[in-house]
Order: sequence, then structure tokens, then C-alpha cells
Amino acid sequence: MSTVVRNYVGGGWRDASAADSLPVTNPASGEEIGRVPLSSAGDVDAAVQAAKAAFPTWRGTPAPERARVLFRLKALLEQHKESLAVQLTLEHGKILAETRGEVQRGIENVEHACGIPTLMLGDTLEEISRGIDCASWRQPLGVFGVITPYNFPVMIPLWFWPYAVATGNTVVLKPSEQDPLTHQRIVELAEEAGLPPGVLNVVHGGREAVEAVCDHPDIVGVSFVGSSRVAEIVYRRSAAAGKRVQTLGGAKNYLIVLPDADMDATLDACAGSIFGSSGQRCLAGSIVVGVGDAHAEIRDRLLDHATSIRMGDGLEPTTDMGPVISAAHRDRVRSFIDQGVADGARLALDGRGRTVEGLEGGYWVGPTIFEDVAPDAAIGAEEIFGPVAGINRASTVEDAISMMHASRYGNACSIFTTSGRAAREFRYQAGISMIGVNIGVAAPMAFFPFGGSRQSFFGDLKAAGRDAVSFFTDQRVVISRWSTAPPDPHRITES
Ligand code: NAD
Repeated sequence: MSTVVRNYVGGGWRDASAADSLPVTNPASGEEIGRVPLSSAGDVDAAVQAAKAAFPTWRGTPAPERARVLFRLKALLEQHKESLAVQLTLEHGKILAETRGEVQRGIENVEHACGIPTLMLGDTLEEISRGIDCASWRQPLGVFGVITPYNFPVMIPLWFWPYAVATGNTVVLKPSEQDPLTHQRIVELAEEAGLPPGVLNVVHGGREAVEAVCDHPDIVGVSFVGSSRVAEIVYRRSAAAGKRVQTLGGAKNYLIVLPDADMDATLDACAGSIFGSSGQRCLAGSIVVGVGDAHAEIRDRLLDHATSIRMGDGLEPTTDMGPVISAAHRDRVRSFIDQGVADGARLALDGRGRTVEGLEGGYWVGPTIFEDVAPDAAIGAEEIFGPVAGINRASTVEDAISMMHASRYGNACSIFTTSGRAAREFRYQAGISMIGVNIGVAAPMAFFPFGGSRQSFFGDLKAAGRDAVSFFTDQRVVISRWSTAPPDPHRITES
């Protein structure tokens, strides 16, 4: 069955005006399971007008009442967690354990946003000068645009819109056109939870819709997650239109293994990081650097492990790794492997020819491992976003860190060691935003900020954490004097 995806505008489901649409496929089989419209700038405008109309009433809804809608949404998400995870596996391809984890991470953001009456408190200071008090209020700003990628289509929209609406704003969400179905279900649940019409609007599509969000004069701010190339375009274009912007981009994450590491735990963490979600995570390990004697050991163990990974349909309990999102992405990942070979890296495990019996129409790339990857070669410098890793050697931890610093990205990195001193030094030197110590996927939870540095992030306030509240509000500072009389030296004061 193929589901026709519709836009959600002003509390109603509407067909986009656009004639063009794209298929949504099950990546494990290649079968079409939905069609998504390529909405026009006019469709975006209709959603913005609905969001703009809903703003004054929603802003005037007390913060505890706004939070109660999110409490109800959290309960509904928990109630439907399993069916959401199954639907997500069908359109994304990752295995059920991973989609359950993603839904859980999304719920944790809704949970965090439920605390908005406390998170949004302002500051006050009495008597900043004689007879004068000062207070700051956090106020919402209006309509925000949220543009999200395919790799976490449930969680990433929930990094943004629950905080935006909790703080009293209204939203136009443009989800990934590659896997929009599960979030549609979440929008239905938000409606069931009592989110009023127009507070959250969804416009499906691609480039035209994104550009319309960046340019629209009634959108005050834009949150974006995707590749660095598009993140930079969206950042520049939205900022040029006078909006506040946060755009999270791609990654090339290093995993550095020291000889004193606990190798069993390190193998599990590195393998999970590299091959989890078929490498389609912005926190996925991409280059493993073994320092000294650690190199041979981690290489041998990773190779053994990668060879044993069972690929297949993510709904099957025996599957360790699913497909990648699309045929185009499979071909892109394969062409990176071709390029790596052409550039002289040693291909220790080749996933190019792999397929799954009975699912030959799926988008398969097997686990792939290169050795001795030059940092400036395509596979050393670019984000591949597939189950492909390089294993390099370094004589010292300083050499390993220099290799890492050659990358233009700065999303995440990890060190594996039993030395607290080495771990501390690494944290001090890394210059990268999300740092794992004996953790392969350095994912902050909802109450911490999520986002990278260098070409992995454009802006200053990151996703989630306290930054979300700052991004979606402005601090309005009021300085008050209620007395024109000179201060009375005999007035009663507490001492
Ligand atoms: P993408 O950049 O192709 O698409 C992201 C969004 O931008 C989508 O909604 C898409 O419709 C839109 N888009 C695509 N091309 C566009 C263009 N030319 N102009 C305007 N809009 C355009 O990214 P993707 O393939 O969906 O997602 C994978 C990427 O996202 C990876 O690079 C990954 O590292 C990154 N990502 C980063 C983080 C992070 O926290 N930094 C998290 C998840 C994913």
C-alpha cells in the first residue's frame, strides 16, 4: 500500500499545490510505500500564514497549559512507541532496536520541553540603582521554520518543534522528503494531544520549499539539520533575510584507541559506532586510529566483527544491519569505495558487491574497511555516511589528534583508554564539540546541547538543552522606577 503524504496546515490535511511528487520506498526491498509532494513556495506561504494567525492566541496560552499538551503528547508517544518504531524501520531501513532507540530519544526531548515553565524563567534584580529594579522575561518571537534530514526523521524534528511551541512560538516543519511517514503519525498524535490548529504546520518537499522557508519575511528563525553543504546555504540565506539561524551539518568522526584501552568494550563501542544505522549517523565513527600496539589489535578485532555482521530486513530479529536509505545513496557510498581504492588505500573488507537473498531490490552496502587512509583523500576527508571505516595507525596520541585536526568537520570524537590523565588531555585538546570517553556514539541527552563545531555547525546556539530555550525566545529586559521621591534614609529595610 502506498500512502499519499499531505501537508498539515492550520490543523487540516491538505494536498500541496505542486503537481510533482517523489516516491518513499522501503529501503530493504525498494518497494514504493508512499508518495511525497514537492510543495511550492505558495504552499509554504499558506503554512506560514496559518502559523502567524495562531501565534497571538498560543503565545497568550499560559506556559503550564502549553506544557500540558506536551505531557499528553509524551504519553501518546509512549503508548504508540512500538508501532512508530516499526513504521520507521519500514521507511528508513534501520533495525528495530535502533528505531526503538530513536523514538525513545525523541520522547526525551518532548519530556524535557514539558519543563518549560521552569526552563523559561527570567531573572530579576532589585535595586540595580537606588529605587530601580530590573527583570528579564523570555518571550517567544513568532513563526519558526524547522528543516530536517532523513537519518533521524522522528528524533530530529523533536529536537526543535516541541521547544519552539513550548516557549509559545508556532512552527512550519519541512521534514526530509525521503522518509516523512512516521513523523506524519507524530503530528496526528500532537493533534490528539490537543495542540491547537496552526501551532504546528508541516510542508513536504525539497529545495523549493526550503528556499521559501529561508526567504519568507514572516519566519523569524530557522533550525536546520542536514549535510554541511546545504547547512551552509541555509545558514547564509536565512541570515541574509534577517533571521536567527542554527544549522547543523555533516561529520567525519575519529575514534582514537590507546594501548591501555579495555579492548572488548572498545570493540563493541567502535563497531556499534561505525556500523549502527549502516553508518548513517552524524555521530558515526568514520576513522579509527590505533595508537602504537592498539592498532593491530583493534584492526584484527574490527575486521572479524565486521565480517560477522548479518545484513537484512530491519524488522527481522536476526538482522544486525539494515540497508542504506536509497539507491542513489548506495551508489554514492559505493563510488566513495571505488575512489578509496583508486587513491591507494588498502581495502581490507569490501562491501560493494553485497546483497541480501530474497531482497535484491534493497539498497545494500556491506561493512567496508580500509587501512591507511590519507586524511586528504576523498575517503579520509569527506563524509561517506555509510558502513565504511578507515583504520589508521599513529605512534602517539598527539599524532592521532593531529590526524583528527586535519578534518574540516568537528562534530564528535572519542578516545578509548583506562587512563584518566589521557582522557582529560584529550578533552582539553580535541577542539570538537561532542566528545566520548570510552563511548562510541557521543550523543548528549535532551537536557544538554547537541551540535558540532567547524564545518559541522553554523550558528552559536545549539539544538536541545538550555540553548533551545534561548534560541526560541528573546530576553526582554525591563528596568523600572516606581518612585520619583528621593530615597528615604529611614525606610524600613531587612538586615
Ligand atoms: P541533506 O542536506 O541532503 O537534506 C537535509 C534537508 O535539506 C532536507 O530536508 C532536504 O530536503 C533539504 N535539501 C536538500 N538539498 C537541498 C538544497 N540544495 N537546497 C535546499 N534544501 C535542500 O541531508 P540528508 O541527506 O537528508 O541527511 C544526512 C546529512 O545530515 C548528513 O550530512 C549528516 O551528517 C547530517 N546530519 C547532521 C546532524 C548533526 O547533528 N550535525 C544530525 C543528523 C544528520
